[in-house]
Amino acid sequence: MNHVVDVNIIGAGPIGLFAGFYTGQRGLSMRYIDPLPEPGGQLTALYPEKFIYDVAGYPKVRAKDLVKSLREQTSHFHPEYVLEQTAVKLARRDGLFEVTTDAGETYPSRALIIAAGIGAFAPRKLNVPGVAEFEGRGVAYSIKNLAYYKDKRVLIMGGGDSAADWFMMLKDVAKSVTLIHRREAFRAHQATVDQMRKAAAEGEGRILTPYELKELRGDERVREAIVYQNQTKTEVPLEVDEVLSMLGYLSKLGPIADWGLTLEGKQVVVSQDMMTSIPGIFACGDMAHYPGKLKLIATGFGEAAIAANYATHFINPELKVDPGHSSDQQR
Ligand SMILES: Cc1cc2nc3c(=O)[nH]c(=O)nc-3n(C[C@H](O)[C@H](O)[C@H](O)COP(=O)(O)OP(=O)(O)OC[C@H]3O[C@@H](n4cnc5c(N)ncnc54)[C@H](O)[C@@H]3O)c2cc1C
Repeated sequence: MNHVVDVNIIGAGPIGLFAGFYTGQRGLSMRYIDPLPEPGGQLTALYPEKFIYDVAGYPKVRAKDLVKSLREQTSHFHPEYVLEQTAVKLARRDGLFEVTTDAGETYPSRALIIAAGIGAFAPRKLNVPGVAEFEGRGVAYSIKNLAYYKDKRVLIMGGGDSAADWFMMLKDVAKSVTLIHRREAFRAHQATVDQMRKAAAEGEGRILTPYELKELRGDERVREAIVYQNQTKTEVPLEVDEVLSMLGYLSKLGPIADWGLTLEGKQVVVSQDMMTSIPGIFACGDMAHYPGKLKLIATGFGEAAIAANYATHFINPELKVDPGHSSDQQR
C-alpha cells in the first residue's frame, strides 16, 4: 500500500493536469495515475505537433507545448506521477478510495477525480501483410516529431482529419508525400480537403483514391508499399521510407466501467458539481457526461476547476468551495 494523498487523479491528460493544478492551489496533495509513459493524454499521444486554436489566451498553441505549460503550472505543487500504470480496481476502505493498478500497486486517497478522457485508446490497425511486422521500423500511427520526416518519402493512409492535416504539414517537410484513401470522399474538414487537392494539383504531394494498401515490403525497415486501386485492382508499387497509418482510434472505457458509477455510453455521469453517482468521486474532461456536454479542452478546464474545488470541500467541509482569486496570492 502506498501513502495516502488527498486526491488521486485518474488520467494525466490536459484536464487531469489542470485538475491537479487546482487541487494543489487549494493546498491539497495529489497523485496522477496514467498508463501512458508521458503526461498529456490525447495531446501527447495523438497530435503533439498539431496547433490548437481554441484554448483561451493562446491564439495558437502546439499540443505538446500546451502540455508543457500545464505541467509547469502544476509542478509548483510537486505532484506525484504514477505513469505506465492503468487504474483497474476501486475499493472503499476506512473512508479512503483505494485505486489498484495493473501493476498490482494500491494508491489510497481521500477523494478521487476521474479525468480518463476517452478511456484507454489504441490505433485502429490494418490487417495487411507487413504492417505489424514493420511497426516501429517505418510504420507509425502518430507523429511525435515533424522534423523526423525531413527528406523522407512518406505514405499516409486514411481519409479523416489526421490524415489530411498531416498531408498538409508533411508536404513542406518530407521529400515526398502520398496519401491513399479507400473512398473518393474524405471525412476530413472540407476546407482541408480542398487545400490538400490544390496542393496535389500543384505537385506538392500525391492523392490516390480509391486506393488501399496490399502489402508492405522491406528488410530491417519498410522500403516499399504495394497499393491498389480497389475497383480496377491495378497495383502500384511505391518506394517509401515511412508509412503513417491514420485510420482513427478505438477507445474503450475499460475497467472504470466496473466501478459502480452511473454511465452514459463510455462516459461517467456527473452533476453540476462534477460529482459522480458515488460521493467523493468526481469526473471532468472527455470522460464526464452531463446535459449539453462539449468535449473540448476549453470546457474541460472549467470542469477541472469545479471538480477540484468541490473535491476540496468534500475532503474538508470547513474549506469553502469558492477558491477565491489566485491573483490575491503571493508566490
Ligand atoms: C486529432 C485531435 C485533435 C483535437 N483538436 C482539438 C482542438 O483543437 N481543440 C479542443 O478543444 N480539443 C481538441 N481535441 C480533443 C481534445 O484532445 C480532448 O478533448 C482532450 O484531450 C480531453 O482531455 P482529457 O484530459 O479529458 O482526456 P485525454 O486527453 O484523453 O486524457 C485522458 C488520460 O487518461 C488516461 N486513462 C484512460 N484510462 C485510464 C485508466 N483506467 N487509468 C489511468 N489513466 C487512464 C489516458 O491514458 C489519458 O492519458 C482533439 C482531439 C484529437 C484526437
